[in-house]
Amino acid sequence: MSTQQILEAIGAGATGDEMAAVPLPESYRGLYVLRSETAMFEGMASEDKDPTKSLHVGDVATPEMAPDEVLIANMASSINFNTVWTSIFEPLPTFGFLDRLGKESVWGKRHAQDFHVVGSDSAGVVIRVGNAVRNWKPGAHVTVHCNHVDDQDPSAHDDSMLAANQRIWGFETNYGGLADLSIVKANQLMAKPSHLTWEEAAVNALCASTSYRMLVGRHAATMKQGDVVFVWGATGGIGAYAIQLALNGGAIPVGVVSSPHRVKLLEAMGCAATIDRREENYQFWSDEHTQDESEWRRLGKKVRSLVGEDPDIVFEHPGRQTMGASVFLAKKGGTIVTCAATSGYMIEYDNRHLWMKLKRIVSSHFANYAESWAMNRLLDLGRIQPVLSKTYTLEQAGQAALSVHRNEAEGKLGVLCLSPSEGLGVTDPEKRDRIGEDKITLFQRHARGEL
Ligand code: NDP
Repeated sequence: MSTQQILEAIGAGATGDEMAAVPLPESYRGLYVLRSETAMFEGMASEDKDPTKSLHVGDVATPEMAPDEVLIANMASSINFNTVWTSIFEPLPTFGFLDRLGKESVWGKRHAQDFHVVGSDSAGVVIRVGNAVRNWKPGAHVTVHCNHVDDQDPSAHDDSMLAANQRIWGFETNYGGLADLSIVKANQLMAKPSHLTWEEAAVNALCASTSYRMLVGRHAATMKQGDVVFVWGATGGIGAYAIQLALNGGAIPVGVVSSPHRVKLLEAMGCAATIDRREENYQFWSDEHTQDESEWRRLGKKVRSLVGEDPDIVFEHPGRQTMGASVFLAKKGGTIVTCAATSGYMIEYDNRHLWMKLKRIVSSHFANYAESWAMNRLLDLGRIQPVLSKTYTLEQAGQAALSVHRNEAEGKLGVLCLSPSEGLGVTDPEKRDRIGEDKITLFQRHARGEL
């Protein structure tokens, strides 16, 4: 009994019943960190911590499946920044999350292990469903969003991101997507867009849904036609979807990146207003404790020179390095929407610019099921494209995480799990032709130097 039999059944187009009859392996291959190694980088600067040292590929025991869960074969997954955080044990080792989940219920207990299988994205095939699962059957081709939430919590029934026990699958839970198999809740499943390969389908859910909630959903910035949307990290994971959502929704994106190579990619995406922050050499901080307002003004002037006005929305995630500038930059009455703080979470901004100009800072975190579903639909319709730039094997996933940690990659990095090679998984090639190979593979072509 091995995952090979599952792969063969998928390759042979097994029916639901045939898939359900394939024996389950007792263990499977996963990418994990170890509890015993959480102190390995102590005393080192963040940038020197190397995910290739802490991420291991090895076998873990197949967990028992709860009644509201499904077992999926992950054909592909992706690297998210949360895997970087887990692998460098910052800001905290993620074993604390697993231990807390372990105390919550009998099923939660499965997660509290001395290994943590990471990964918060997947495109794959359902191979087993729990006996409380109604809407999915073995054999279904799915993508997985990472909002892990208990639907028996009343607070989950307004906005599930507010549920008391809301967690990010593969970050705050075990048995994540960077593995051959995973257990996920049935309410994390979405139909895989039929025109995408496994790896193209696997990179979207976490980042794209996050950007959707930040810009489009009713809980955050609620972008409208004509809004000027200023996007930091505009060719990065969440930024590249933000630019597409702005263009698709009739807004005017201003994309900030850090090289001419990335400016070229932004232009190819249709983003006319671009800023190369490295070339402009903004120095928002004159020393560790002091920000330089004249540099915020210089950036503001640049934005006005490009689009003629200040941003209605600032899409913020770098955190400490940029938040002062972001608060300054938004137009009177504008919105700064934030979901992260890559460069530091202790934030400083000049509050006068906030209150006197009646701006608001809105927080956002991942997305609820409805928002993830709405985003998946846009991908399925071909209105939004995957931003996969490169694909790695599971054995190379540590290297991919290092590359994200060092800000070396554009868009998203895909990881093949059970899929034996790139390019598989398309079940509607005509739809792919209709949407356009060139559009779907823009980031891959850019990474190969073909733009
Ligand atoms: P990526 O590394 O793919 O992209 C981030 C981009 O931000 C980089 O490409 C870089 O672009 C830019 N950037 C990095 N540091 C700075 C800085 N100091 N100043 C200005 N720009 C900077 O990461 P993601 O887009 O996937 O994630 C970004 C952040 O959002 C991470 O901290 C992640 O953990 C968080 N996140 C939060 C989510 C949530 O649900 N709350 C969900 C997804 C991500 P360039 O150098 O080209 O300017």
